[in-house]
Amino acid sequence: MAEKIFDVAIVGGGPAGLSAAIWLGRYLHDVVLVDSGDPRNWETRGVNGYLGLPGIRPAELRAAGREEAKKYGATLVDGFVVRAHREADDRFVLEYDPMPVTKAELDRPGPGAPRRPEDNEPCEATRPIVARRVLLAIGLKDVWPRVPGLEQVYGDRAHVCPDCDGFETRDKKTVILGKGRKAVGMALNLTTWTRDLVICTNGEPLGAEPDVAAKLAPLGIAVRTEPVLGITLREGTLRSLQFETGEALGCEKIFFAIGQYPADDLGAQLGCARDAEGHVEVDDAYHTSVRNVFAAGDIVPGPQLGIAAAADGAIAALAIHKSLVPEERKLKRRHASEDVKPHRVRPRDDGGAAAPPWQASEDGAATSAR
Ligand SMILES: Cc1cc2nc3c(=O)[nH]c(=O)nc-3n(C[C@H](O)[C@H](O)[C@H](O)COP(=O)(O)OP(=O)(O)OC[C@H]3O[C@@H](n4cnc5c(N)ncnc54)[C@H](O)[C@@H]3O)c2cc1C
Repeated sequence: MAEKIFDVAIVGGGPAGLSAAIWLGRYLHDVVLVDSGDPRNWETRGVNGYLGLPGIRPAELRAAGREEAKKYGATLVDGFVVRAHREADDRFVLEYDPMPVTKAELDRPGPGAPRRPEDNEPCEATRPIVARRVLLAIGLKDVWPRVPGLEQVYGDRAHVCPDCDGFETRDKKTVILGKGRKAVGMALNLTTWTRDLVICTNGEPLGAEPDVAAKLAPLGIAVRTEPVLGITLREGTLRSLQFETGEALGCEKIFFAIGQYPADDLGAQLGCARDAEGHVEVDDAYHTSVRNVFAAGDIVPGPQLGIAAAADGAIAALAIHKSLVPEERKLKRRHASEDVKPHRVRPRDDGGAAAPPWQASEDGAATSAR
């Protein structure tokens, strides 16, 4: 039987991956999307700020996206892509472990089981996918504070993103779990909605530079460094944070600012340039530093919002489509510089990243996905 080669393989079926699958399907491309069904926002009670769909549940948004992607002919696979490598500029091989039951399918709450190093070993069921283009839409994971019971209120009273959940925090007693510049930054961010703020470092010093820490007192933001024993619920809702000292601190909302990491290492496996936090660097067409590998959604630098991820996926799909259109159906560029897109990276001290290697490789001038 002839080898099946997809035009595009998408890894990740959140808003970024599904939006790309829909657009690529509309361009009549042969698309496969592999998703392990363990999205970052699974626990949230409703996605805020998604145009036209206020408070839609993550499961509902995905279900609608999956149905739409299928309508345009995308092949949806439940599985975890464990390995990815480039064999040629337009030939990529992904290997995935099928997953008979995903969390997304069951629509059940709770953080997904952490993957172990041995999960990346080949297993008997591992299957290959060959594609001409790859889109990484794998998302991120959040580092959790060690506070027993937090999972009971996560996504409802405990959050990670002031942009997403700040509005619902208006005038509420709010605790920021974390330390250093990150925690101070999050507290300052939350002053838009509430002035009743306390940073709890859970047994560690605040660890912020003096000029950063100095911002807190004038705004009435207290810092508590005692170890946290857990949370107290009454009638199922968050009431207070319990310190090891026996003291309780009343709170209605918790935000935590510990850290994030990529959902998997496929960006590294494919050799894509990444920033210090592991985000995959892309240009404005969501093309990575590896030719014909694209990335979209939370895994790239920039805002982490559902609607932004969906927009990323759509823009990436347009660029992927253009990269697949044969030359005879395209107009030649008038100037070598016409299609050059700035490389999208987080601002860095050295003024940003150099053009990706494939951009300068062909005729001495830059090329892009378009
Ligand atoms: C608690 C919480 C609440 C939030 N609330 C809001 C909100 O109110 N409004 C808002 O706009 N945004 C909100 N966000 C942010 C929003 O959820 C993200 O910006 C958005 O989900 C990112 O979409 P994505 O497609 O990039 O990634 P995700 O939605 O995380 O999807 C990534 C998918 O890739 C899969 N995957 C990863 N690795 C592999 C692999 N190797 N093989 C196969 N599949 C893989 C995962 O299982 C997952 O299904 C919230 C986030 C959190 C954590």
